[in-house]
Amino acid sequence: MASSCKLASRDHKTDDTIVMIGNVEIGGKHPIVIAGPCTVEDEAALLEIASSVKNAGAKMLRGGAYKTRTSPHDFQGLGEKGLILLAKASDKYGLPIVTEITDPKDVGLIAEYADMLQIGSRNMQNSALLKAAGRSQLPVLLKRGFACTINEWLLAADYILSEGNPNVVLCERGIRSFEDSTRFSLDILSIAVVKKMSHLPIIVDPSHAAGYREYVASAAKGSIAAGADGLMIEVSVNPETALVDGRQALTLIQFSELMVQLNHISKGIARSVSVSESN
Ligand code: PEP
Ligand code: MN
Repeated sequence: MASSCKLASRDHKTDDTIVMIGNVEIGGKHPIVIAGPCTVEDEAALLEIASSVKNAGAKMLRGGAYKTRTSPHDFQGLGEKGLILLAKASDKYGLPIVTEITDPKDVGLIAEYADMLQIGSRNMQNSALLKAAGRSQLPVLLKRGFACTINEWLLAADYILSEGNPNVVLCERGIRSFEDSTRFSLDILSIAVVKKMSHLPIIVDPSHAAGYREYVASAAKGSIAAGADGLMIEVSVNPETALVDGRQALTLIQFSELMVQLNHISKGIARSVSVSESN
């Protein structure tokens, strides 16, 4: 039986933690949306995505340069070239970047380009990686292992917090169940459970949970209504040709339409998602 988390728990800190990534606040009054491709593929597409999601109200840009693919035979990402492209898009559109780290030795390099480190589902219990991310002092987006309990997830957060890095954001991305009509099963109640057990902010990734773009909006809207502090959504200029996760990527138009709906929902629960610079 795993012991309970300490540093991530409400017993340790009663008030909600707000994590700042540049000017972007996660865990504050307004839920924020992070959007971008699963994996950085080429410059023109990335710039088009950054421009479009920024206009639609996204506050941060995502994109993988180093990937944790299930198969070693699949595209593994562009590496540093991908980081350079992300930094270019970030500078041009003023969107801080979150990108995945898969190896502790890459912390220094990724920190030169990125504003936030993502630890992927398959690495949630990689303690060497958690400790390296903790020592980096960059904010960390910690995805839930798809076969891990909420307590195990919070213990993983404790590895990062133990290194003196307080800037951890949790990301629910669905867990494996017997259901196979979606890629994973979105554990929407983890939002409420985490809010009770922990002071850390929690966002939801509806894209990897759903696995199919036609289910992403429902998962996204439900998550905001359930009290998530934000969302991370995969988009593509051309989902049909995307090298990774095209089936779950929203088109840029679908993303913009979803942002308008999300704003209605958040206003309904008095937590508006900003869809433009003015609100
Ligand atoms: C991703 O965000 O592209 C990703 C690989 O997600 P996960 O680690 O949740 O599978
Ligand atoms: Mn993906």
